[in-house]
Amino acid sequence: MADTRPALPPLRDVIARHGLAASKALGQNFLLDEQLLDRIATIPGPLDGQPAFEVGPGPGGLTRAILRAGARLVAVERDHRCLPALAELEEAFPGQLRVLSGDAMEVDARAEAGDGAHIIANLPYNVGTPLLIGWLSAAWEPLPWWSSLTLMFQMEVAERIVAQPGTDHYGRLAILSQWRSEARIAMKVHRSAFTPPPKVMSAVVHITAKPAPDGVQLKMLERLTAAAFGQRRKMLRQSLKGLPGALDALAEVGIDPQRRAETVSVEDFVAVARILSR
Ligand code: SAM
Repeated sequence: MADTRPALPPLRDVIARHGLAASKALGQNFLLDEQLLDRIATIPGPLDGQPAFEVGPGPGGLTRAILRAGARLVAVERDHRCLPALAELEEAFPGQLRVLSGDAMEVDARAEAGDGAHIIANLPYNVGTPLLIGWLSAAWEPLPWWSSLTLMFQMEVAERIVAQPGTDHYGRLAILSQWRSEARIAMKVHRSAFTPPPKVMSAVVHITAKPAPDGVQLKMLERLTAAAFGQRRKMLRQSLKGLPGALDALAEVGIDPQRRAETVSVEDFVAVARILSR
């Protein structure tokens, strides 16, 4: 079958033509390898006709790949210099792309992209974690408004998201990411794939939502894990002393108060938070 996808100029040419020298302050590390970008765009699953939301399209490499996969995409970019390059993509994929100029931290992604959107982004490192926490903290009724999260992070952050108990990376971010979602590293990406290369390796994390466990308030799980990991080297009986009811709840679940937070499974934290949420 003939390839009907629009022929686009190489990303390097787009960057040169629009003077998009990478800004460190905006966390700009661009991906230019279109095969790699197409592979990233397959991670969420079939996107044809699906709503999608991208943070920080920059010169538009990942944006192109998402559009080639057939998604209806809303993308928010803070750097005004990128807007003319992105306008060319809006023209090349008529009716498929809407670019918003602004700060992703202030955009209502649900209102802009619509329920069921796949969120896909090579995130700027300085706002990546707060954005993830915002999406993970959305109302879950019984699922969140988004369908999946496919997000590039620095490797260390990716490891904290998918960490298992008993490992150094295990903590509050792992529990928030896993108590009602499946989180996995879908692809490791070498620093040399980026222009300019960052100091560290990166990884694409793929997160899909599960129905939330019954009777657990997110606020309570957050209070519990903040107390438990606030002093991660201490025994739970010490770190949870200030949280009313927590030591009784530990006993009810059958968790030895001499254990440390980093050894307690996500399910056990959820069980304790359920008792505290009553
Ligand atoms: N998607 C492009 C790619 O993969 O080559 C660029 C990724 S680069 C790591 C991060 C992008 O996010 C940059 O284009 C940067 O200007 C943009 N950005 C940084 N902070 C932002 C914010 N608060 N809101 C929206 N975009 C932001």
